[in-house]
Amino acid sequence: MLKFALAGNPNSGKTTLFNALTGSTAHVGNWPGVTVDKREGTYKKGAEPIGIVDLPGIYSLSPYTPEEVISRNFLLSDEINGIINIVDATNLERNLYLTTQLMELGVPMVIALNMTDVLDKQGDKIDVRALERRIGYPVVEISALKGTNVDDLMEKATEAIKTKRVGETVLKDSLLGSAIANAEIALKLKGVYAPLFHAVKLVEKDEIEVKSHPEEAKAVEAFIQANAGGREIDTEAEIADARYKYITSRFSTTLTRARKLDYNELSKSNKADKVLTHKWFGIPIFLIILFAVFHLTFSENVLYLGSIIPSFGEWCGQEGSVAKGIFFGDGLNSPGVILFNALDLLTSKIGEWMGMGLEGLGAHEAVVGLVCDGVWGGISSVLSFLPQILVLFLFFSILEDSGYMARVAFMLDRIFRRFGVSGRAFMPMIMGFGCSVPAMINTRTMADQKEREATVRVIPFFSCGAKMPILLAIAGGIVEKFGIGNADIITYSMYLLGMVVAMLSLLIMRNTTMRGEASPFIMELPIYHMPGFKNLMLHLWDKAKHFIQKAFTIILVSCVIVWFLSNFGWAWNYVGENMDQSILASIGKLIQPFFTPLGFGSQLSSTGWVFAVAALTGLIAKEDVIATFGTLAGCLMAGFEVSGALEEGVEEVIVMITSTGISIPALLAFIAFNMLTIPCFAAVATAKAEIGKGKFKWTLLFWIFTSYLVSTMVYTIGEFWWTSFIWASVAIITTIAIVLYNKKADKKGKV
Ligand code: GDP
Ligand code: MG
Repeated sequence: MLKFALAGNPNSGKTTLFNALTGSTAHVGNWPGVTVDKREGTYKKGAEPIGIVDLPGIYSLSPYTPEEVISRNFLLSDEINGIINIVDATNLERNLYLTTQLMELGVPMVIALNMTDVLDKQGDKIDVRALERRIGYPVVEISALKGTNVDDLMEKATEAIKTKRVGETVLKDSLLGSAIANAEIALKLKGVYAPLFHAVKLVEKDEIEVKSHPEEAKAVEAFIQANAGGREIDTEAEIADARYKYITSRFSTTLTRARKLDYNELSKSNKADKVLTHKWFGIPIFLIILFAVFHLTFSENVLYLGSIIPSFGEWCGQEGSVAKGIFFGDGLNSPGVILFNALDLLTSKIGEWMGMGLEGLGAHEAVVGLVCDGVWGGISSVLSFLPQILVLFLFFSILEDSGYMARVAFMLDRIFRRFGVSGRAFMPMIMGFGCSVPAMINTRTMADQKEREATVRVIPFFSCGAKMPILLAIAGGIVEKFGIGNADIITYSMYLLGMVVAMLSLLIMRNTTMRGEASPFIMELPIYHMPGFKNLMLHLWDKAKHFIQKAFTIILVSCVIVWFLSNFGWAWNYVGENMDQSILASIGKLIQPFFTPLGFGSQLSSTGWVFAVAALTGLIAKEDVIATFGTLAGCLMAGFEVSGALEEGVEEVIVMITSTGISIPALLAFIAFNMLTIPCFAAVATAKAEIGKGKFKWTLLFWIFTSYLVSTMVYTIGEFWWTSFIWASVAIITTIAIVLYNKKADKKGKV
């Protein structure tokens, strides 16, 4: 199979093109450095299937960053037949800098001139034919986002590999031209692959190159010295300069800029930035946007209309009607809640029908229990949260794709630095709200190893989609059962708690066990643009698919297991409603005391072990926590009259609250514990792979310790307010200890 590599600057649209060509749904962000590993797919619309490899974005082929090393090694391997070089047309000169280096490889190449839709909008023009003539490689104008001309591009690419290429350099006539030519001959004689590329790198005194050809390096050095006439030459700077000079003199003339600069997007971007990245208002604006997002996803009282307008309730239809149930809570429901209610209505109806069907067929009590409570109860209590997860995810995608999140990273860099990490950590953190696994992988863009490890550790604290059902069901349960607070405020503050704990942990780690300065953060800001609808939908579909798959595989299996363990005793006797005598109950009771300081241990009544068991199943998948409630509540429910109109998940939590007598602080501690403790299997495996085996046990310990400590604090302060004094003094003593430790460590460092 033919294989092409996509190479280009960060944010030039490589992944968007990759997705357009292969129909895959890889993560696209208006954010440099999103793709940190190479990714492969297949283009199937041509005469024969063609392999496509998406590489991390790079500005050059030097070996300075992990991205550069990955891309360079791959481009130099003989795995590919050709290169598709993506050039962002709105940034022509800067993008061509990489192109001039790719030309030196001597590999067939086509240039995909991307973002031509933006170019058109700005009114700028590129003389493509002139550009093509001067570069000597085919150029195809495309828009990866809209899918314009991408098939044409592939046709040209398959055409291009039919002619063999030798490397060409734009540095021929520069000061170092003859040194490069000599080095090329020497390397060619040695039989080196892509000799011209290596020759240029040798002249540049590139570390990797000098190491692999030490003798030639010496000869080149001597040659340059001899020609320089005693002058000191910084060859790297000289070469970079020569490239830019060549580009501006030869290619800039192919670009005609529109006159009316103040009407183009760039200046619109600048205007928006005056407000959005304002020195003082920037971060408060971000927090408000974040709250608005949560409000639109979780609130049952949009804009607090229900509280502001007293007669609001009367307009919203009959109590108990379907419309009221779906659209109106305490006021107007948010889009997230509306979708949630609609799906919930459906899943509970399906559950009822299944129950009636089975009973009609005369099935045994245990079978009905397994199917309706065990399996469907568990799965549906998780599935009903899918709409809200998708809505939240949609908002995040929009913020990211528009280019706003990249700015937030910049604003936060100032603050992050105080906590010992750079603004680069922000992207993985935000991805963590979706899922910890890709987020942990994304930390590879961070140059400093210790900084990176510390970030991997705190990523699970940015509560992922799978943890959302825990938050929502319990927040819903608290609101319903105790009649206080708004669900969106509880959720928002629990998310905030996670973030605060993450930042404090970073601060402590970076000042004790993982001491170090934050690495510098340099990134080019992308201009704002409208997110592509198709792109967003692909993203959401991907998320939904993953979630549903998980629900019907891992969660289904766990539900069946939990159901069996909770319905049978050690002697394999069916215990039915006497769940207290089940296997699960005895296991739960064994670990229950461990949670006593957190408020959901021994102090609860005889059914209190369910919380311990739920936390345990969360280690498999976090959705399992609520799914377990769903399964167990089915058994406990028999003795309860729960008012009909409640949502799935919330209903189960209410059963749990009532039967165990758990308090609000303990419920909050329960959320905190599940949010901060060891994440699911998949995340644990990823963290292990990213951090390395040896240090991993400390990471596990860190998660257990942090979750236990914070949850105990949440519970004790909530239950006995005066304990806040004790916690405050512990915090002060810890701070003093750390400061003293650092003074000592600094002194040692100096000697
Ligand atoms: P990568 O870093 O090179 O992989 O770039 P991405 O594929 O992640 O894209 C960066 C940003 O540019 C995203 O916000 C894309 O939606 C946007 N983008 C990519 N191609 C185009 C295009 O042809 N036109 C426009 N207007 N935007 C694009
Ligand atoms: Mg990418």
